[in-house]
Amino acid sequence: MKKTHPSIASHTSKMEIKKRIGLVAHDYRKRDLLDWAEYNKEILKKHELFGTGTTGGLISEKLGLPVYRFMSGPLGGDQQLGAAIAQGALDILIFFWDPLQAQPHDVDVKALLRIAIVYNIPLACSRSSADFLISSELMNEPYERYLVDYGKRLKSLSADQ
Ligand code: PGA
Repeated sequence: MKKTHPSIASHTSKMEIKKRIGLVAHDYRKRDLLDWAEYNKEILKKHELFGTGTTGGLISEKLGLPVYRFMSGPLGGDQQLGAAIAQGALDILIFFWDPLQAQPHDVDVKALLRIAIVYNIPLACSRSSADFLISSELMNEPYERYLVDYGKRLKSLSADQ
């Protein structure tokens, strides 16, 4: 299976077999995420789990697994997860955001989704995409995730002007 795109990759970052997984759900989607996490407990327990304050606490309680908890989302937890992604400390993000309710920390939500794309980490925002992600054979092997050199891209844009 081809896992990288050398033509646009400036460098790659290696994910180990044991993945560091971030878990976040907005209030009306917490039940959905908890249910999903319980169903996938046997897979999740092989990895390292992180979460925003409330989500992380609920998952840890329900599954009986350790979950490193950042602050609650609206109080900075989403930003902490984003920083962890930027620092290479998180491999995967499962983020059940609520499509039917505005959030007080909407800008943080947007920033977290953006940074997940910038660093090309696997991101699932719906239950079916989370199912596909968690059942991927790549969950059981190391993976080289490619990273685009955005600095070079910005330089070439300014050179064009
Ligand atoms: P919470 O935060 O897990 O602390 O509720 C989630 C969020 O709203 O981003």
